[in-house]
Amino acid sequence: MPRQRSSHPAAGVSAAPAGDGATGDADGDGYTWGERASLWFLNCIDKSVKFIEPLLIVLAIGLISLDVYTFFKFVIPEVTERRGSAVTVLHSVWALWLLFNVFFNQFHCAFSSPGTTLEVHEQALQLAMTYDWRWCRKCNRGKPPLTHHCSICNKCVLKMDHHCVWMANCIGFFNYRHFVLFLFWMWVGSLYSALVYLCEYPLLFKLESREWDRRGFLPFFMFILSASIWLGISALFWWHVWLILTGQGTIDYLDNTQKVADAKAHGRQWVNPYHLGAIANWQETFDVRGRWWWLAWMLPTRRRKLGNGYVLPQIDLSILDKAESASGHQTQRGAGGSSNYV
Ligand SMILES: [Zn+2]
Ligand SMILES: [Zn+2]
Repeated sequence: MPRQRSSHPAAGVSAAPAGDGATGDADGDGYTWGERASLWFLNCIDKSVKFIEPLLIVLAIGLISLDVYTFFKFVIPEVTERRGSAVTVLHSVWALWLLFNVFFNQFHCAFSSPGTTLEVHEQALQLAMTYDWRWCRKCNRGKPPLTHHCSICNKCVLKMDHHCVWMANCIGFFNYRHFVLFLFWMWVGSLYSALVYLCEYPLLFKLESREWDRRGFLPFFMFILSASIWLGISALFWWHVWLILTGQGTIDYLDNTQKVADAKAHGRQWVNPYHLGAIANWQETFDVRGRWWWLAWMLPTRRRKLGNGYVLPQIDLSILDKAESASGHQTQRGAGGSSNYV
């Protein structure tokens, strides 16, 4: 079924989910006292988050820097004494490479735009608009599929994953790969940090030694911190690996779970139109093609991600038609547009 195009953005309006672009319009048009109190409370939370976020960025940079200081101050002299200068150089270069990748991706994730509908030329947005787009009353613009309004940034973010307080930024179409790469290099870095203290610093657990207070406490503290961060990051990093491989974002995962359950209740199967296949999803997310894609995805790049964030690659819908003919079931592509059932 061909997609229909609205002649005017307002024609594409469908019921926006409660709380998604519909909150915050407390200007006297039909809100009850309770709703106004809730909006005020939510607004206070948004403002508090906005205030705390820069402090969290400084805290993250401070702890990473303290780890690097401890490594070069205590571990590297020990490695030089016990293993020689060649191994010292290897450890130093590897540690600096990890540090560069962590800060590079943190910087690009925090300080580059995730992509918002306000940055897209309004006419281009209207031309791309189809029947399945919703409407954001706050931005007064069409809301493409997978786009969500962030109440903290007060913008509609293209292919929004979530708002990250550690980045003081939304994670969306253009900076998602930097977010995942930050998690990846933090995962590798915190594992390396914990192991290097454990294997290369004999004083680490000699708590009875008179030297421990002076030279053992900081490495011991950083070992505990690195191991704890590695455990926390592990859960988050592998969760995002699974989301990428299945063609979903954090917010969309919740929607998709509901769609799968609804379809199952009606004896049908829901097909995610943005699931291009595990490898293609990975290549699309990190914007890597060619024979070296399996290595290139983790390398630092300043190149802007290809695509616009409001017209996203989908699977060939004719596949669904073939599946429909084969199964004899009816294919439905309702108001969701991206909701496809066989
Ligand atoms: Zn909006
Ligand atoms: Zn945001």
